[in-house]
Amino acid sequence: MAETSAMKKPDIRHANPLAQTLLNKLDYDQLTNCMRCGFCLPACPTFRETGIEPESPRGRIALMKAVADGLLDPDQAFQDQMNHCLGCRACEPACPADVKYGQLIEQARDAIEDHAEHSAPVKGLRSLMFRGVFPKRGSLKLLGGSLAFYQKSGLRKLARGIGVMKLFPEHLREMEAILPEATSKGVVEQLGTLYPAKGTPIARVALFRGCIMDVMFAGTNVNTVKLLSEAGFEVVIPDSQACCGALHAHSGEMAEARTLAKVNIAAFKQAGVDYIVSNAGGCGALLVEYDHLLHEEADERLKEDARWFSARVIDVSRLIMEQGRIPSFAESANEAGEVVVTYQDSCHLRNVMKSSAAPRQLLRSVGGATFTEMKEADRCCGSAGIYNVTQPEMAGQILEHKMEHAATTKARYMLTSNPGCLLQMKLGIEKHPPETRMEAMHIVDYLHDRLIADKT
Ligand code: SF4
Ligand code: SF4
Repeated sequence: MAETSAMKKPDIRHANPLAQTLLNKLDYDQLTNCMRCGFCLPACPTFRETGIEPESPRGRIALMKAVADGLLDPDQAFQDQMNHCLGCRACEPACPADVKYGQLIEQARDAIEDHAEHSAPVKGLRSLMFRGVFPKRGSLKLLGGSLAFYQKSGLRKLARGIGVMKLFPEHLREMEAILPEATSKGVVEQLGTLYPAKGTPIARVALFRGCIMDVMFAGTNVNTVKLLSEAGFEVVIPDSQACCGALHAHSGEMAEARTLAKVNIAAFKQAGVDYIVSNAGGCGALLVEYDHLLHEEADERLKEDARWFSARVIDVSRLIMEQGRIPSFAESANEAGEVVVTYQDSCHLRNVMKSSAAPRQLLRSVGGATFTEMKEADRCCGSAGIYNVTQPEMAGQILEHKMEHAATTKARYMLTSNPGCLLQMKLGIEKHPPETRMEAMHIVDYLHDRLIADKT
């Protein structure tokens, strides 16, 4: 590892309140660790799209440091630059100085959010989603039930028929069209809080069910539990768990993210498990960093519990590959011969949870299917939490390139390990349909459907 050059935080009183908050919140050691080598530039999707320095990790770090040092005003252009970052963290594995860029961008956004002057509707919507919906199980169920009613009752058809959807911006209309079927019945309502292992149990594990995941992708949660059972794990699903807080952390709502982390640590600690399993890269990446999220807490016991929690978080594919009895999978025979599958990495799963080999190994174990690597599968698809909603132009540009690479694989299935990436892939197939038929699926659903063993 290269030698770093950490420096003392400057003793400045900024006249601009946002500059002062940035100076207070940014980890100055991390800012000064950047030695401006530029190794991260080719890994950065926004730099690759634009070719300009401020759209690169090195450029953004320089901007943060300039504001902290009092050399630059944190004006709207600065704030926009912080928001253009996907938060994909592809710059971190490329960095020889081990700069924790992900932490810096979250600190910058947290500071910006402290001084944000949102319009009343935006303020209301943020408060509703971040405090009223994501963290509250009852609200999530209500949201799932209402969406399911909208989708199944004919209301959706009516809304489209009379042109209500035209009132929304194009990218939101496109997203609405590819939303999966929602439900108010999550994994606990469907399977209970304990699911036995098939055969002798290898370990007792807990499923992290997520918030939106358990409303929009409850079937994937159910399939995750069944796949884990098939691989020899007893699965607990603590019902008192909450949203992971990732969307909060990425949007500058750090205090709420910490509150949620504390709820989850208590819930999983009580379950007494060997592993905490995530099937969503975006959630898993924050769960695995709860120890850092809470490292400034005064309560030593809480910090110890946070380290206990983080050390147990693992991706479902990695747990099965490294610790489980790998089930037998087979692709149904198809008149055209072998079925080609490909895989789009979840950035957070790859760059933060370090799980990229295991999903591919599992896919290679499916009989009757050929795994074909997609060019730049390790590059962000443009989903990035709610980035495709807040920055539709850049997200659309990135997605277009992704679909060009996807088309060359001629894959029948495009598999991924994160709900956001999955929706983005569905959107890509819809907007840029490849010549050969392609379907986007969560890797767990694909594998579960191809289990050779009897499914109950
Ligand atoms: S997180 Fe992703 S988009 Fe942001 S600077 Fe790093 S590589 Fe670029
Ligand atoms: S690779 Fe690391 S040290 Fe080099 S410019 Fe990028 S962030 Fe700075």
